[in-house]
Amino acid sequence: MKLKDKALLKTASYVGGEWLDAGGKTFALNNPATGDKLADIADHGAATIRLAIDKAAAAQKEWAARTAKDRAMLMRGWFNLIMENQEDLAQIITAEMGKPLAEARGEVAYGASFIDWFAEEGRRISGDILQPHMTDKRLMVLKQPIGVVGAITPWNFPNAMITRKIAPAIAAGCAVVLKPAEQTPLSALALAELADRAGLPAGIVNIVNGMDAPAMGLELTTNPIVRKVTFTGSTEVGRILMKQSADTIKKVSLELGGNAPLIIFDDADIDVAVRETLASKFRNAGQTCVCANRIFVQDGIYDDFAAALTAKVSEMKVGNGADDGVVTGPLIDGQGLDKVERHVADALGKGAVATTGGSKHDLGLTFFTPTVLTGMTTDMQIFKEETFGPVAPLFRFKTEEEVVAMANDTIFGLAGYFFARDMARVWRVAEALEYGIVSVNTGIFSNEIGPFGGVKQSGIGREGSKYGIDDFLEMKYVCLGEI
Ligand code: NAP
Repeated sequence: MKLKDKALLKTASYVGGEWLDAGGKTFALNNPATGDKLADIADHGAATIRLAIDKAAAAQKEWAARTAKDRAMLMRGWFNLIMENQEDLAQIITAEMGKPLAEARGEVAYGASFIDWFAEEGRRISGDILQPHMTDKRLMVLKQPIGVVGAITPWNFPNAMITRKIAPAIAAGCAVVLKPAEQTPLSALALAELADRAGLPAGIVNIVNGMDAPAMGLELTTNPIVRKVTFTGSTEVGRILMKQSADTIKKVSLELGGNAPLIIFDDADIDVAVRETLASKFRNAGQTCVCANRIFVQDGIYDDFAAALTAKVSEMKVGNGADDGVVTGPLIDGQGLDKVERHVADALGKGAVATTGGSKHDLGLTFFTPTVLTGMTTDMQIFKEETFGPVAPLFRFKTEEEVVAMANDTIFGLAGYFFARDMARVWRVAEALEYGIVSVNTGIFSNEIGPFGGVKQSGIGREGSKYGIDDFLEMKYVCLGEI
């Protein structure tokens, strides 16, 4: 990792404005593309989470009492520092989780956009004055910060998933205690270092790393000081956190797993569909919650589409994301690789055909060859579970009704895509898909402006957008008498 500013590389946790080691207890962090050790990270646990919650509570009242403009100015300073250090932050992302540098640079800009956006949104939090029911009364609605927020984030967007939570929280006047994924502590700590340099007050942003996620999560979800829990990760862990939050009746936001359908109708522009399917499916080596997981292609164009996609996928350069021209990096770890291998073996065993790829890559470690599978059927594992790898499985369908039913036949409901040109069909299918996000004729829809989130077991709440700050606010009704 070639950093211009080596001081961005932190290994201690950031609590109450100070860098805390864990009394010598550490865990090793390795680069998934090389196997080389990157750093020894301070291994904290529930006790440090508790300390951070106390520090956050102590700082939050003064932060909430400031003007929204004051908070916005500090956030703007943080945004500027992130963009000035975009290259270093991208190098850190690529080194710790493997995505190609071009994607990592994009993630840094995407992550920073939430800080810029919510700094502005924080200045537009407005209450209300209502028509009273009696002449001597006045009725008002105040919007106030919810207080201390507990956050847990995944490794696949180690920068953006953090800013997407912290930015609306601090813009609203909350303080945050965040536990990043154990595979990606460095991106989180570099963001904390820049928050510190930007002058955010001690205790407003706290980042605690550790290997004992269940104990740290238990503290965040059961400590009565924490008023809100926000989580991005698997549906399985989301369920645990929601249950744990019940005893203290916390407000909960969950951004969970997906099983995205991507439908290509006969009337689609095939070149556009191939280009955008590549963008949706193979970004981050297929490791995003919104990557197409099941690709449904209408009978009339199935063979042409499969041939065109296979030609493009077979040319994809696999390797270390830090090297020029690489578009597919390694998978995050051995567990991630096992799942992809299991899904592909299950499909091949039940009659699918790999028109390109289909196995581990010669580079070894956790590299998997970009793959296209044809002849997919609904009894295969890939139909039910997200694969989280560079595998494009093609299912054949005949009618719109049939494909909408197949697309909705899942417990998940995060993102769905389709390609069509008939306007009546575009309306019908957009309305019929049971997904929080529907992407039409494009494989890329993420930005700070649109509301991001799922329905069914893909989650609760929305991040980004003009709606994203509401989750960090409480509404208070004030009734004035004797006027
Ligand atoms: P994960 O296993 O659920 O881990 C996510 C975070 O939860 C990590 O920080 C992890 O810590 C922590 N964690 C694990 N077990 C926990 C427990 N019992 N209590 C408290 N925290 C716990 O998910 P992942 O494999 O990192 O991420 C991939 C998943 O995230 C996929 O399902 C993907 O679809 C989903 N995702 C969703 C969105 C969205 O916006 N909807 C965005 C990105 C990813 P450790 O790392 O220390 O285990």
